Amino acid sequence: MTLHVPTILLTSAMMNALIAALQLFISHRLQNVALAYWALCNVAVATGATLLGLRAEIPLVVSVVLGNGLLLFGLGLVLSGVRSFDGKTPRLGLVAAIAALGMGLLFLSLHFGDNLGQRIILISLLIAGWCLLAAIALHRGPERDHWSFARSVCSVLISAMGGLYAARALAVATGWLSTENAYAGTPQAVLVLSGLAIGIGWNFCSLYMVLDRFASTDELTGLLNRRTTLLRGRHLFDDAIARRSAMSILMVDLDHFKSINDRFGHHVGDAVLHRFADVAPRGLRFGDVIGRLGGEEFCVLLPGADSDTAWKLGERLRLIAELELRVVASRPVHATVTIGIATLPADPPAGPSLASLIRAADEALYLGKAEGRNRVLVAGRPPARDPDAVEADMRGICA
Ligand code: GH3
Ligand code: MG
Ligand code: MG
Repeated sequence: MTLHVPTILLTSAMMNALIAALQLFISHRLQNVALAYWALCNVAVATGATLLGLRAEIPLVVSVVLGNGLLLFGLGLVLSGVRSFDGKTPRLGLVAAIAALGMGLLFLSLHFGDNLGQRIILISLLIAGWCLLAAIALHRGPERDHWSFARSVCSVLISAMGGLYAARALAVATGWLSTENAYAGTPQAVLVLSGLAIGIGWNFCSLYMVLDRFASTDELTGLLNRRTTLLRGRHLFDDAIARRSAMSILMVDLDHFKSINDRFGHHVGDAVLHRFADVAPRGLRFGDVIGRLGGEEFCVLLPGADSDTAWKLGERLRLIAELELRVVASRPVHATVTIGIATLPADPPAGPSLASLIRAADEALYLGKAEGRNRVLVAGRPPARDPDAVEADMRGICA
C-alpha cells in the first residue's frame, strides 16, 4: 500500500478548516477566548498543511518556509489557548517570535546547502517543544480542574503528538530514518495520519473542556454552580462511605445580604459575592470544594474532615469573610457569614445520605442565624466557645 503524503496533508487541512469553523462559531456564542485561539491554531495548521501539501505545485521556499512557519505558529497557539483558559496571558508575542525564528532558520538552511535533514530535525523539535509545554500547562492547571477528565485526555493527546515529532527528530538525527522517508515516505505518511487522528481527538476534548467549564460554572462568582457542587458532593460522599473516612459539609450564608443590596445597590451586592468567592478558597485545603448554591448561599465540601477540622476551617472562613468584606467597591459593607456544619463520621450509623447531611448543616446554619449571625455552628453540638475567644485564636491561624 502506498500512502501519498501530500494527499493526507490536504485531507488534514480540510479537517482542520472545518473544525476551526465550528470552534469559531462556538467561541463567539460562548464568548470564549481560549476556543478562539484554538480555532486560530486550526486555521494556521490548515493553511500550513495546504502549503506543504502543494509543495510540487508552488515555489519550494513558500511551501517549506511559510508552510512550516504556519504549523509552528498554530502549535504555539495551543499553549496560548490553554493559558487563556486558565486566565493567564496568552504570550502571542513569543509564539510569533518562535515561528519567525523557525522560518528564518528554514530559509537559511534552504539557501545555504539545502540540508533537508537539518530542516526536519529543527521543525520536529520546535513542534515537539510546543506540544510538551502545552501538555505541562494542561497537566498543572488550576485546582478546580484537577479532576477534569477532558483536561487529562487533552494533556495525554498533546504529549503523544509531541512524542511523535520528538521521535521523528531523533530518528533522523541518529540516521535510523532516512531523510527521504522522513519527508515523503511511508513513515512520514503515518506521522501525518497519526497527527490528524490525534488532532481530531484533541479538538473534541478541548471543546468538551470549554463546554464542561461553561456548564459547571456560576457566572457571577466563577465558583462551581449548584448542580456541579451537589454532583461533586455525591461523589465525595460515596467515596467517604466506601473508604470509611469522615467528610464534612459547610453551608455558608451571607448575613443581612438583602440590606447590603438595599443600602448600597445591587451592583455592590454582586461585588460582595464576587469578593467572597475570591477570598474563600484561601481558607480551604487542597481538594476541598466550594460552590455557590444560589443567591448568597455557598456550600463547602470537606473530604476527610472530622467535625473538629471542619469547625476550624469554618471559623477560618468566617474570619476571612469578616476581614475581607469590610469594604467592597469602596463601600463600608461590613458583610459577615454564618456557617452551619454537619459531619459524616468515619464509622457512620446505618443509612446516612448526602441529603440528610445537607439538611443537618442547613439546620445548624439557621440556628446560627437565630443566635445572632457571624458564627459557626456544628450540627448536634452546642456553640463551641465564646465567639470573641474563638476570633482571637483564629486571627493567629489566618495571619
Ligand atoms: P439572613 O442574614 O437571614 O440570611 O438575611 P439575608 O438578607 O441575607 O437573606 P434574605 O434571604 O432575606 O435575602 C437574600 C437576598 O439576596 C435577597 C436577594 O435579593 C439577594 N440576592 C440573591 N441573589 C443575588 C445576586 O446574585 N446578586 C445580588 N446582588 N443579590 C442577590
Ligand atoms: Mg443571607
Ligand atoms: Mg440565604
